[in-house]
Amino acid sequence: MRGAERLDAFMARANAAYYASHDPFADFTTAPEISQVFGELLGLWAGIAWQGMGAPARFLLAEAGPGRGSLMADALRALAQALPACRAAAAVALIETSPRLRAAQAARVPEAVWYDDLAALPDGPCVLLANEFLDALPIRQFRRQGTGWQEHFVQDGGFLTRPAPAPDHPAAADAADGAIIEIGAAAQDFVRALAQRLCRQGGAALLIDYGPEISAAGDSLQALREGAPADPLADPGRADLTAHVDFAALARVARAAGAAVFGPVPQGKFLAALGLFQRTDRLARTQPPGRAMALLDAARRLAEPDRMGRLFKVLAVCHPALPPLPGFEP
Ligand code: SAH
Repeated sequence: MRGAERLDAFMARANAAYYASHDPFADFTTAPEISQVFGELLGLWAGIAWQGMGAPARFLLAEAGPGRGSLMADALRALAQALPACRAAAAVALIETSPRLRAAQAARVPEAVWYDDLAALPDGPCVLLANEFLDALPIRQFRRQGTGWQEHFVQDGGFLTRPAPAPDHPAAADAADGAIIEIGAAAQDFVRALAQRLCRQGGAALLIDYGPEISAAGDSLQALREGAPADPLADPGRADLTAHVDFAALARVARAAGAAVFGPVPQGKFLAALGLFQRTDRLARTQPPGRAMALLDAARRLAEPDRMGRLFKVLAVCHPALPPLPGFEP
């Protein structure tokens, strides 16, 4: 039997086991799997960032948590058509820990080089994309109890609590008795290191995930097992564990590290500004009617507020000298 494990340690262990042994896309689908236009638009965004960086002859086109490799494959195809010089300059770097998913990515993006984490990436200017990566990173949970705080640990499939200092969170001071405050410590560490790197070596990053615009109290830890909601603490490694991403906290961390930050903006607004519907229409015209309808519905699913358009947010973290990047206009 295991001793009590802090929630973030439990979540890290459970997700590492889950991604190493499962095809996550049997349990959930993601924007790049819904429409090829998603990855194409992100590729074009990366190309515009590259131009803003002064069009370096070589740069890293990186992705964190690339899943099946669809986003990167679609991005590279769009860049090859629209900005061949950028396509030629791109050295594709994938940050992925799961050997199983690395193999799937190699089938879609054979030229890629794989890394275990951000710190392992080679030096140089970089454009990094990440879709539904940060939500898989481990969180800590704190519970208000009377005038003090407890932290969640996991033992034998249940929570136990231990006294803890007050969490560093804007909603902590007014939290009601019993309220849960989540700290995405691993996501914050990732964004801090990313912002420091971009400030030193140049570049930009686009982070897309689901979460509220304003940091609030609340329990967002969830598990999906075989496509259905499950108990997050039962059977570690059998379910995908995620939590909402606190974009306000990530924006603060990136600014404190010296980076320029754009957003968060709702995904629907971002994709529409990048031309989601125009590009989808053009593509649909070349397809048989059934496929054309499916493409248009996929675009609506990504953008409509009551589907993925509002819950999902887009945040850009950039070198401060970069010109403004598309998708974040007021
Ligand atoms: N971006 C893809 C996949 C999202 S699933 C898409 O949109 O379809 C989450 C991805 O992050 C998987 O590829 C998973 O293996 C990877 N991942 C999860 N935790 C990770 C970690 N700590 N380090 C690197 N990759 C991780």
